[in-house]
Amino acid sequence: MTLHCNLLTLFPDMFPGSLGQSLSGRALEQRKWSYDAINIRDFATDKHQTVDDTPYGGGAGMVLRPDVLENALLSIKPEKRGRLIYMSPRGRVLNQKLVEELTTEDNLTILCGRYEGVDQRFLDAYDIEEISIGDYVLSGGEPAAIIVMDACIRLLDGVMGNEDTAGDESFSNDLLEYPHYTKPATWTDTQNNARDVPDILKSGNHAKINEWRHGQSLALTQSRRPDLLKK
Ligand code: SAM
Repeated sequence: MTLHCNLLTLFPDMFPGSLGQSLSGRALEQRKWSYDAINIRDFATDKHQTVDDTPYGGGAGMVLRPDVLENALLSIKPEKRGRLIYMSPRGRVLNQKLVEELTTEDNLTILCGRYEGVDQRFLDAYDIEEISIGDYVLSGGEPAAIIVMDACIRLLDGVMGNEDTAGDESFSNDLLEYPHYTKPATWTDTQNNARDVPDILKSGNHAKINEWRHGQSLALTQSRRPDLLKK
């Protein structure tokens, strides 16, 4: 399982950004995923390389033109386009289930908006799905695309090293993850409070440890995200 992402953007230098580091950076070197950052401006047709214009009906800001966006999209071979996504605060909110769904694709084409957004006719013409990373507004779709890609890349075969790592994580069963502890077994903070690792985690009894962790997951989810439990 590998993933190729086509990024339609006005700021191609924003990629790979943080995806060039650590786990995803190594996976990029190992060709477990790849990307093409396609500069939308290269597909403008006038001498000023105009990509946007004022909104019909008035209002603030500029809107990306459908003809320029179409030229950029059509520069990608049809078989390399895969699922078409527009990063948008109006979209389906990203969650782990959607991330898992996206990692079943070989190719993703992700349109990163700027200004007020993109002409609706382009989204309609190519049946482009909108995905949001949360209920707040960013200045552009590039950081949102990086978040989607990061969440997908770490699930690709062989990227995380230990294939079990994803199993217990937050949201994998609609539960938040249990708390983690490492050495030292007793840590004295600068306020002189000695804090111990819970005894159960040092017991070596894996059945009991799993039971304790599950209880912690349930309690945390109940107090912080009861909406997940209702699912
Ligand atoms: N006028 C738009 C609205 O109110 O829905 C916001 C446009 S925003 C300033 C510019 C671009 O940032 C959007 O076209 C989109 O690509 C991206 N963006 C902003 N917030 C986002 C979010 N929460 N999730 C995904 N993309 C987002």
